[in-house]
Amino acid sequence: PPPSPPPPPPLRTTAAGLRRDNWQQLAGAGVHEVPTGDFSYYDHVLDTSVMVGAIPARHRAAVAADPLDGYFAMARGTQDVAPLEMTKWFDTNYHYLVPELGPDTVFAADSTQQVAQLTEALGLGLAGRPVLVGPVSYLLLAKPAPGVPAGFDPLTLLDRLLPVYAEVLADLRAAGARWVQLDEPALVQDRSPAVLNAAARAYRDLGTLTDRPQLLVASYFDRLGEALPVLAKAPVEGLALDFTGPAAGNLQDLAAVGGLPGKRLVAGVVNGRNVWINHYEQSLATLGTLLGLAERVDVSSSCSLLHVPLDTGAERDIDPQIVRWLAFARQKTTEIVTLARGLARGTDTIAAELAANRADLASRAGSALTRAPAVRARAAAVTEADGRRSRPYAERSAAQRAHLRLPLLPTTTIGSFPQTAALRTARADLRAGRLDAEGYEERISAEIREVLAFQEKAGIDVLVHGEPERNDMVQYFAEQLTGYLATQHGWVQSYGTRYVRPPILAGDISRPEPMTVHWTRYAQSLTERPVKGMLTGPVTMLAWSFVRDDQPLGDTARQVALALRDEVNDLEAAGTSVIQVDEPALRETLPLRAAGHAAYLAWATEAFRLTTGGVRPDTQIHTHMCYAEFGDILRAIEDLDADVISLEAARSHMQVAAELATAGYPREVGPGVYDIHSPRVPDVAEATALLRKGLAAIPAERLWVNPDCGLKTRGWPEVRAALENLVAAAREIRGGLPGGAS
Ligand code: GLN
Ligand code: ZN
Repeated sequence: PPPSPPPPPPLRTTAAGLRRDNWQQLAGAGVHEVPTGDFSYYDHVLDTSVMVGAIPARHRAAVAADPLDGYFAMARGTQDVAPLEMTKWFDTNYHYLVPELGPDTVFAADSTQQVAQLTEALGLGLAGRPVLVGPVSYLLLAKPAPGVPAGFDPLTLLDRLLPVYAEVLADLRAAGARWVQLDEPALVQDRSPAVLNAAARAYRDLGTLTDRPQLLVASYFDRLGEALPVLAKAPVEGLALDFTGPAAGNLQDLAAVGGLPGKRLVAGVVNGRNVWINHYEQSLATLGTLLGLAERVDVSSSCSLLHVPLDTGAERDIDPQIVRWLAFARQKTTEIVTLARGLARGTDTIAAELAANRADLASRAGSALTRAPAVRARAAAVTEADGRRSRPYAERSAAQRAHLRLPLLPTTTIGSFPQTAALRTARADLRAGRLDAEGYEERISAEIREVLAFQEKAGIDVLVHGEPERNDMVQYFAEQLTGYLATQHGWVQSYGTRYVRPPILAGDISRPEPMTVHWTRYAQSLTERPVKGMLTGPVTMLAWSFVRDDQPLGDTARQVALALRDEVNDLEAAGTSVIQVDEPALRETLPLRAAGHAAYLAWATEAFRLTTGGVRPDTQIHTHMCYAEFGDILRAIEDLDADVISLEAARSHMQVAAELATAGYPREVGPGVYDIHSPRVPDVAEATALLRKGLAAIPAERLWVNPDCGLKTRGWPEVRAALENLVAAAREIRGGLPGGAS
């Protein structure tokens, strides 16, 4: 018999080994102080909830029975108990678990994990600096627990929380911590005087404790702004500031408040969110200025390196000429140490590194990949008219009605159908050479035939091909566009054990050939009903990729938009009358501070309109967004000038339909009536009730019937039942409308 495989090493042993390897790697590279306590089995905000004892009531028994099982139950839920809500960490693609707090929350310090990890690092002879989520950000990231009135403000718990932090700080000091880092990224957003006062109070209280390590308050992702003077005055020993991207203004702001006399400044000059090599001369200039503004300056990354892949050395398929432009986490560590050496001992000591850096930067700037004259000329020639449909909405709408002849309350889906295990296996087989291109094509064709046949039988009005050929809605396009790089090992955590490999917008973007026309045309050949063309929009292409740092985002977006515009026009020429351009990331990429909103929305909406502006009036443009707090971007949604928008709405009981109506949104809307994040199948009565709510806000001539989002994560049995119910609900309501029988 074959030997049984060796048992897997226990989780805790593996985790400790990873921590040790990471620390030794950092120390070996020359980092003199290593972060501790930032290693997480799932998420560091959840770790903070554990540290302060904010365990939701429904999870307490599980946590008491087994802390680790209880921890995973909070993160992922169990058959019987819902997990904590998960949401995006600022404007990154990382998700954290939202603390649930209420007026009855009782905090209790549990420094076990923090102390244990610090002790491990100290045991290796390393200077460990524990990293904690700061108390103000922790409360600002929280939401009222289930059953607590929505008006409850978690920040009112600050006075109860601070003694818990005091206890943890004392424990860490006793365990040997000289410095502790408290992350307060929530202070880089526009904050009210009340919040700024709370921050001042928090750090006055923590700063005046007697039994504590030295405190380093860290911020990242944007300028500290009004919070900078607050923290600069606080009785803490150091601040960590981001000096990259939108946060670069911290430099002027710091000078304006008179610097940080007597304090330590940890200067984030190496971008922790992007993959490009550092510009050493610029960083050294910044660091030189900072030397005059603080007692001591240390070089660092701008934020946690969680947001970038590990090592460019693992990439075998990227041209070595291009790899030298890239810095993943390991390379960034080297950059930090090099800059620190140059700062401390003079640039002569890093002359070779400076020369190599200059050459690498020049190679990138002069490369034909980053500067394609034809792409640039085309982008420069774009006029306002290119981003405008040839006819106003009212005329288009009439032309589309005549052309498409859809019933009232037309039914459709958002694009993807179940990505079954068989489909994923086929893709893996193709990659491994177990299936040839022809066999794979046949597999995809068969899937499309099945998806089309089901939709026809179910009575859906506007069909989709189901996206079976797409591994991912961004990567699929990135792989086909010139100027985009895919990595082999560039994994970045999205949440839990889910990692993504964002492609890299490395050069000027062009489309060598049509990307979706083949499959869309095939699908259309199978039916008389309209099949929707399906593309990922330019804003989402940028949001879920690593973007260029050598030109404004708007320029990159415009290039992507022009490539997609060609695709849209080719789809139309191939006979596609309905084309959907997905922009689920439009809201999440909104800059953290309101001052940046207008400029962002201007280029974002321009890019969308450029993508879609070249079609005939009777071609119907759809867009789709998932969940979003739309309040901030209602005007921008209108500026997209899409004929139809579909949005997530089932869980919020069609609230977004009412919001759009109140804002006077004039075009067609498909608020989702099927929550695709749940295995639940809505019955006909439930879908009908949701549609009636939708009708209360949006007139029947402008209301569509669709699920919340794509169906790729669902199973066929649920999808079949849910879509059949959705069609039945639409028919039932149509029957009761004047002229609506169908
Ligand atoms: N068309 C995509 C799909 O259906 C949209 C996905 C999304 O909005 N995230 O899968
Ligand atoms: Zn969606």
